[in-house]
Amino acid sequence: MIRKDIKSFAKSIPNNVKLVVASKYYDVNDISVLMQSGIKDFGENRVDSFLPKYDYFKGSDIRWHFIGHLQRNKAKKVLNKIDFLHSLDSLELAKMINEIREKELPTLIEVSVNEEENKNGVKIADLEEFVEEVLKYPKIKLIGLMMMAIDGSSEESLHHQFAELRNVRDKLEKKFSIKLPELSMGMSHDYKIAIEEGATMIRLGHIVSEEYKN
Ligand SMILES: *Cc1c(COP(=O)(O)O)cnc(C)c1O
Repeated sequence: MIRKDIKSFAKSIPNNVKLVVASKYYDVNDISVLMQSGIKDFGENRVDSFLPKYDYFKGSDIRWHFIGHLQRNKAKKVLNKIDFLHSLDSLELAKMINEIREKELPTLIEVSVNEEENKNGVKIADLEEFVEEVLKYPKIKLIGLMMMAIDGSSEESLHHQFAELRNVRDKLEKKFSIKLPELSMGMSHDYKIAIEEGATMIRLGHIVSEEYKN
């Protein structure tokens, strides 16, 4: 069940930060409740649960974000149905987007800020080369970077991890003379710290549920 104070919760998030509800825990009824509260951005991380929800809400003003690892054998089914991709993590996927996507896809690169803990995402050491290649694909509109912090990190470590993504972003902007305005970072337990470190998109799952306990 969606928390009863969802409207005031959503209002508590700064205006310049976009709330993306990670909808993997929520069915179409929950999503409808959230939409009635003014939330329009939803992030799915699995193709199989995304597709029926997409069909159900077809024609509404919902914006679909894909936030999980997108397997290439399933990418074809989703690439023309989403509004944002947060998890570009391979050049093979970049190539597919460029071939399959009908119009530009606003895209964030998933970065592995903590290489040994987080296997998903592009390593910081490989990022410049990766961006250089991605910029060659006209269908990819690169808008920023995404990350997941390590589970169970101390507050200090979380600050450090989120700041690292921001610093990496700043370097890429300089190096390529581009703008990467979006930082997608922060989940239910760490979003406040992510916002302090410059998050512009937060992906919240559990915390929008009535059952969530801090
Ligand atoms: C599930 C999920 C979230 C949200 O997680 P919560 O801890 O429930 O807020 C954020 N990002 C991704 C990629 C997810 O899969």
